[in-house]
Amino acid sequence: MTKAAYAAFYFMGELYFDYASTTKVKKEVLDEMIPYFMEYYGNPSSIYSLSRKVKSGIDKSKNNISKLINCKRSEVYFTSGGTEADNWAIKGIAFANKDKGNHIITTEIEHAAVLNSCKYLESLGFKVTYLPVDHKGFVNLETLTKAIDNKTILVSIMFGNNEIGTMQNIKAIGEICREKNVYFHTDAVQALGQVPINVEEMNIDVLSMSAHKIYGPKGVGALYIKKGVKIHNLIHGGEQERGRRSGTENVPGIVGFGKAAELAFENFEEETDKVINYRNKIIDLLLKIEGTQINGALGKDRLPNNINVSFKGVNSEGLLIVLDNMGVFASAGSACSAGAIEESHVLKAIGLSLEETKNSIRFTFGYDISDDIIEVFVDKIRIAVNNIRSMDC
Ligand SMILES: *Cc1c(COP(=O)(O)O)cnc(C)c1O
Repeated sequence: MTKAAYAAFYFMGELYFDYASTTKVKKEVLDEMIPYFMEYYGNPSSIYSLSRKVKSGIDKSKNNISKLINCKRSEVYFTSGGTEADNWAIKGIAFANKDKGNHIITTEIEHAAVLNSCKYLESLGFKVTYLPVDHKGFVNLETLTKAIDNKTILVSIMFGNNEIGTMQNIKAIGEICREKNVYFHTDAVQALGQVPINVEEMNIDVLSMSAHKIYGPKGVGALYIKKGVKIHNLIHGGEQERGRRSGTENVPGIVGFGKAAELAFENFEEETDKVINYRNKIIDLLLKIEGTQINGALGKDRLPNNINVSFKGVNSEGLLIVLDNMGVFASAGSACSAGAIEESHVLKAIGLSLEETKNSIRFTFGYDISDDIIEVFVDKIRIAVNNIRSMDC
C-alpha cells in the first residue's frame, strides 16, 4: 500500500462502489439545475415570456437524451424515473393492444419494475412467459422465437442486468420482434450512457431510462416511444408531454437529466474505455484472492462498470457490514425497501447454488475511479475477506 493511496482514501473518506444503485450528481449537472428553482420557475405550460426559458430547458434536455439513443426529440417522454417508465411501457402497451392478444414475454432476470408490472397484468388475465437464461445470464434466441405466438403483443428484455452486468444481444432480439411483428421494450436504465444505444439500428420500440444512474438527479426518467407505437397513458390530467404524461414537469430534474445525458454523450469513449479498463483490472486483482468466482458474462457482453463476485465461505451479508465499517459501500442481491437482503432472483436464474448466491457481492463504480482508489479498495476487500474467513463464521 503506497502512502499516496492511503492519503487519497482519507481524503475521500469513503469508497462508494454502488453506482448501479445510484450515483452522485455531477457538479455541472447541479449547476445547470439551480437556476430552475428561483430564476426560471415559471410553469412550462404557460404562454408568457417567463415560461419560455423553462420550456426551452425541457426541449434542450429532450434533445440531449435523444442523441444518446439516436431517436427523435419528439419521441422522448419524461417520467418520475425508471420504475414509472417500465410500468408505462408494459402496462400501456398491454392495455392498448389487448384486442390483438394477451401474451407478453419477458425474462426471469428483469428488474422488479418489469417483473411486478407483469405480475399485475397476470392478475388482470394477461399471460406472461418468463424466459430462462443460461449460466452467464443470456436469453436463448431460439427459445425466444419459439415463445412468440399469434397472441403475443410485447417482448420486454432488459439491455444490461443490474446485478450481474450481462448484456443481451439486443439487436438480434429487435430483429426477431420486428419479423414477428410484436413490440420490443427494453429496460436500458443500466446501459444508458455506458454502452452505445441506437434504437433505430436495434429495432427498439420502447426504452426505459433513469437520470440518477448516469450522474443526474433522482426522481426523473424517460420513456422513448417510437412514433406510431400503440400505447395507453397511465397518468391522466392536464395533458402535459403532448398529452401522454400529465402533471407539471419536474423542470430542475429534467434539466439535470439533460445535462447528465449531454456529458455522457460528450465524454462517452473516454469514460467508457476508462471504466472497462478498470473493471478488468479490479477483476484480475480480486481473482488473486483465493476462492473468488466471477458471476455473469465477461468482456464486451458485460456492463462496463459491473463486478459481481462470490467469495467462497464468506457470507455477503456479513462482508457488507465489515466493509461498511471500513468505509466501503457495496451491495448484495437486491436490497429491498426494508434494508434486508433477499435471495437474488437473478443469481438463482443463472443457476448458482444457494451457497454461491449467499456469498455473492456486487461492486459497481464510475468515471471517477482511479489507481489510488482501486489500490485501497482491493486491499480492504482482501483484509475483510481474510478476517471473516479466519473467524470461521
Ligand atoms: C434503477 C433501475 C430501475 C429503476 O429506476 P428508478 O429511476 O430508480 O425508478 C429500473 N431498472 C433497472 C435495470 C435499474 O437499474
